[in-house]
Formats: sequence, structure tokens, C-alpha cells
Amino acid sequence: MSTRFFIPAGAVIENKSGKLDLVFPPRCSRCDAAEAPRFETHTLKYQAGMVRRSSFRTQFRTTVKFDLRLPLCEACYGANFIEDPDSCVHDQTLLGKYARRRSAGILGASIVAGAAFLLLMKIIPLPETWLWLILMGAALLAYALTLADSARQNRQIRAELKHKRPGEQLYRAEITAKMQLDDPQNQDTAVTATLQNEQWAEECAAHYGWICELTQLEAK
Ligand SMILES: [Zn+2]
Repeated sequence: MSTRFFIPAGAVIENKSGKLDLVFPPRCSRCDAAEAPRFETHTLKYQAGMVRRSSFRTQFRTTVKFDLRLPLCEACYGANFIEDPDSCVHDQTLLGKYARRRSAGILGASIVAGAAFLLLMKIIPLPETWLWLILMGAALLAYALTLADSARQNRQIRAELKHKRPGEQLYRAEITAKMQLDDPQNQDTAVTATLQNEQWAEECAAHYGWICELTQLEAK
């Protein structure tokens, strides 16, 4: 089983900081460790009150972009990095630094691969026809180095996790923001959060006064 709670639109719209930190109860939201100095970040966009829909863009009167963050201990933060390194890119931590390096490596390789494609298709005509091949080789090398670095980092974190708590598997929460046609009312559900840690989720929902329910744990 897992626990799901519903964050109302009022709590999302009234928060102007761009970060909704669920800091109660002050324990790790996955394993209940007392020390929880890190966060699991979910970047969300709540949209309500549709103005018009076109094939290019759908406009809403209310759009709130924000990061919902759940407290984590160091060990669960490492597991979170393996699951979703991109969610750590804004963290001022060592793993945040690795996440930024990984993200920059993939972006750089993609830009070079894009340039190679433009040369190959002669969209940018140059006399040296072999230049695209060099660029494509450089892009593949950059991808390979970035992924190898990431895999090495993940192996190290997995080894540490195995040592700290063998056999235990805890995952990121499933959190989604809603998109609704009508304008938002304070009690409309804006965000649905499903957590493995039932006790933590129940205490969190009770503290903030949000509706909470038990649900079946979905297979990973
Ligand atoms: Zn933990």
C-alpha cells in the first residue's frame, strides 16, 4: 500500500516563492530517518481556466510553475540522484554538481550533433564536406564520456546504499499537477502526491489540513 494526498489550489496559488517545501514532519519522507537535510524535487506546472486551445499552444488564465520538495536523508538523496539526476541540477550539493556536469555534457553533445546534422544536410554549406564527420565523432565521444562518468557515479552510490541498508528499495514519490478547464477554486485539487511512506504522508497531510487516502502501491 501507499498513501496519496491532495494539495488544494489555494495552497499552490498563494505560494509566491516558486518552492513548496513540505517540511513537516521533519523526517526523511522515504525512510523516516531523523536527519533529513536534503530534498527530493518535483518540478510542476498547475494550469487552470483554459482561454483557448490551438494546435500550437493552449492558454490558461492561471499558470503556476513551482518546485515541490520533500525532505530526504543523505542515503535517500543518493538513491534519488540515481533515479532522476536532472531533479538535482539546482541543488548546492556534490551530487548537484555532478548533475549539472551531466546535464551540460548531454547539452553540449546535442548541440555539436545538431551542428553536424546541419552540415550533413548542407543547410550550412561549407567546402570541407568531411567536417560533419568530425563533429559527429566529437558529439558521440562527449555522449560516451558523459554517460560513463554518470554510470561510474551511480555504481559508487549503489555500493554505498547496499552497505547502509541492504535489501531496502525506496522510490521517488509520484507527484502530478493538474490541468483543468475551469478557473481554480481554493479547494480544487491542484497536485496529487503518492508516497510509499504511509506514516509520513498521513502526518504531512494532517499537518497541512489536506485530504489523504490509502491506495494500492503501483508496481515499479
Ligand atoms: Zn531516507
